Amino acid sequence: MESVHDFIKKVKNGEIDIVEHTYKLIEECKEINKEYNYLNTISEELALNSASEIKIQVKQNKNIKNKKLLGVAVSAKDAICVRDVETTAGSKILQSYRPLFDAFVIQRVKEEGAIIIGKTSQDEFGFGGFSVNVGKGFKIPKNPFDSERSCGGSSGGAAGLTQKLSSHIALGESTGGSIVEPASFCGVYGLCPTYGRVSRYGLIDFSNSMDKIGSMGKTIEDAALLMNVISGYDKKDSTSLNIKNDDYEKYLKKSVKGMKIGIIKEAFGAGVDREAENNVCPGIEELEEEGAKAEEISLELPIKYGIATYYMIAASEASTNLAKFCGMRYGAVEKLEGSFNEYFTKVRSNNFGDEAKRRIMLGTFARMAGYRDAFYLKAMKVRTLMINEYKKAFKKFDALISPTASILPPKFEDIEKLTPLQHYMIDIMTVSPNVAGLPHLNVPVGFEKNLPIGMLLIADHLQEGKLIQLGSAIEKGK
Ligand code: GLN
Repeated sequence: MESVHDFIKKVKNGEIDIVEHTYKLIEECKEINKEYNYLNTISEELALNSASEIKIQVKQNKNIKNKKLLGVAVSAKDAICVRDVETTAGSKILQSYRPLFDAFVIQRVKEEGAIIIGKTSQDEFGFGGFSVNVGKGFKIPKNPFDSERSCGGSSGGAAGLTQKLSSHIALGESTGGSIVEPASFCGVYGLCPTYGRVSRYGLIDFSNSMDKIGSMGKTIEDAALLMNVISGYDKKDSTSLNIKNDDYEKYLKKSVKGMKIGIIKEAFGAGVDREAENNVCPGIEELEEEGAKAEEISLELPIKYGIATYYMIAASEASTNLAKFCGMRYGAVEKLEGSFNEYFTKVRSNNFGDEAKRRIMLGTFARMAGYRDAFYLKAMKVRTLMINEYKKAFKKFDALISPTASILPPKFEDIEKLTPLQHYMIDIMTVSPNVAGLPHLNVPVGFEKNLPIGMLLIADHLQEGKLIQLGSAIEKGK
């Protein structure tokens, strides 16, 4: 497979006609979308205009020398604002909303010469793990290896498109695992950074204290390259970290000799599919062959209390975030009649999906006077304990390992039978690093029944480089 660096070189020296290439890629997107529904919007006009501009710049040899993504196709999860392109976060309530501005990450990739090809499908506002909780009128994306199965969620469209489209890198978003879990189900790399590493400016909020934008690529190199472009301080996001940038690509070739990895004991065994375990183990052996040292570690809190803690915090924050969708400022409107409360209720009941309504009720309840201490504040305390437990583990280990998902990508007919709680359990491996704001990476490690399986690597805050180092060692060994 051609690396992105080689592709960019060819664009720069005119070997690739970028307009022709982009046109073909858009046609490919349309074709893929007919069966798999990975894109809510294909931004054809924007893409072709950008390609034409790049073509002129290449001809004039102007402004192209240091562009890190010149001509590279990039998609954005539909929760990420792209100027003049419909941005819905997968919800009917935002249909027809065209932002007047670009999200920070979109500004950055555009500055580096990327071509935005479209907005990828997702669970409504990110509420789900299988991309089946799409808003009313949206289509459900399907697994690239078996269209009767889920491609994971909530960044399902991003992961599926990364697998299926010939060349492209994706911007995904994770609150509780929405980058790594769909990446695992679709057999691609998914890198979710430390909370605050990448600006959230222009990302439609789900749960502000956990939302993170990250990258997805067919190779670890692609994921690292995009992360290099999007990470960094942004004064428009009050939680953005004002620290020196790291160069993630320099970790791609670094040896893992002497690195210590902890295998999370509780993440293997009961409740985890044999197939998932069996494929993660060779990945660990690969790292050991390269000189890393693996040892088991027991982490009590993440697996035991992760789901409860995460859903309490996530639903509480989501319920306040969704209050702004009232039919007055953005997207869907209804006939203006009755009192404001009646109007507000009508707009919301007609335009939010069931899962959004469930989270509004759950979150509002958890924050109510009288319950706040018992639920929301208690979850915040467990969050601190969890961070402490991880921090202790990182005194000894460079990274922690588990399967990314405890099951293989399920069939849609089986997902329909799940209760909401069973649905939430899909995130058992991924919610806790998200609650703790830790960077994590999905590495595709194998196939079982023709379905991909992923390994989850978790590192200490701001240690994304170690994840890339370990991930690329496994990639090389394959
Ligand atoms: N599946 C989790 C949820 O439903 C996480 C989703 C996400 O990371 N956006 O909340």
